[in-house]
Amino acid sequence: GYLFLMDNKRLDQDVVKTFISEGRAEIVQESSISEMGYITKPKKDEKELLNLSDIDGALLGYNCGIIEPDRICAYYESELRKMGVSFFYNTEVKNLRFEPQTRLNYPGEPFLWQKMEMRNLETSNGTFRAETTIVCADMWTNVLLNSAGIDSHVRGKKRQVFRITGEPASRLMSHTMRPEQTVMPFTIFPSYGIVMRPEPGSSSVWISVADDYNRPFEEEDDPKPEPEFYENSLFPVIRSYLPQFSSCRVSSMWAGHYSYNTIDRTHYVFKEGNLIVATGSSGSGIMKADAIGRVVSSLYSGRKKTTLYDGSSIQTGDLGVEERHVSTEHMVI
Ligand SMILES: Cc1cc2nc3c(=O)[nH]c(=O)nc-3n(C[C@H](O)[C@H](O)[C@H](O)COP(=O)(O)OP(=O)(O)OC[C@H]3O[C@@H](n4cnc5c(N)ncnc54)[C@H](O)[C@@H]3O)c2cc1C
Repeated sequence: GYLFLMDNKRLDQDVVKTFISEGRAEIVQESSISEMGYITKPKKDEKELLNLSDIDGALLGYNCGIIEPDRICAYYESELRKMGVSFFYNTEVKNLRFEPQTRLNYPGEPFLWQKMEMRNLETSNGTFRAETTIVCADMWTNVLLNSAGIDSHVRGKKRQVFRITGEPASRLMSHTMRPEQTVMPFTIFPSYGIVMRPEPGSSSVWISVADDYNRPFEEEDDPKPEPEFYENSLFPVIRSYLPQFSSCRVSSMWAGHYSYNTIDRTHYVFKEGNLIVATGSSGSGIMKADAIGRVVSSLYSGRKKTTLYDGSSIQTGDLGVEERHVSTEHMVI
């Protein structure tokens, strides 16, 4: 489950009522949150200094949880190998460029009036020829497509994860909320959208946040986590709700990027000549990978409609640029 800790104002939102009326979530009382070890009403001075919200209750979503991306990737890799697909790891594709369909062997090709396509991929492992190229490099799509003159409509922002280990984290982990759960739910704090994910194997939790102001849009090759960001920005808030976490330590940390579609925070999937682009996962690319893969497959095969995993269908162009028809994704955490 996902446990959204909330103050009364948020608990009263229409979206909360809708989730409950659709049978997708339930309200958890403040007393149950206290039993897990949370301070539901932070001290007055901390509340004022850190601009904290109270925890008056929570919304527990049912059909949500945690997954292991490595295992999903390993599964698909083994299935695809059985189907004859080859993988080339540690192979960097250099900048992509359109080439003339018919070469004139004249300096400066291709010219405006020549038919162009993306045919040869220059890589650190030699040149590959492709009828169709699918660019699914998410945050790095910009870097790859800039030289080809194609706008990928996304911007990268660093996101960090801090792994917190210690007896209090281990104790919190054992608090399940429903019979089918084996660990505590993935938890969203009432302030700043800070999230806490259980790591069942190690009795640790991961803490992260999607911060905005003064967090630049940039594409770093090797983004580094900032321990001082945990110490100065995250820990004071966590400690106000979970003072026992003062005895926990940061046992590891890492950083990556969210590749933001800054308008509606949903993927872009579109075709330019013989190039298909799937990018802009906006922090939900694992969860949405199945759906996006299906849209890519439809674009490749020229199908106007895409059938999703649950049998429902969407127009393939809905996630494109020209005929875009999506609502804004509000669940970016
Ligand atoms: C801290 C953090 C937490 C997250 N949590 C969640 C979550 O809980 N749920 C969720 O759904 N999503 C989450 N995400 C987002 C998720 O990781 C991405 O949306 C997802 O990985 C996107 O998948 P992708 O295959 O499109 O791109 P990526 O996973 O980014 O893969 C792109 C690949 O392209 C490769 N590449 C780039 N440039 C080149 C080049 N020139 N040549 C060759 N290869 C290249 C890269 O090396 C990379 O392997 C999180 C992201 C971060 C950073």
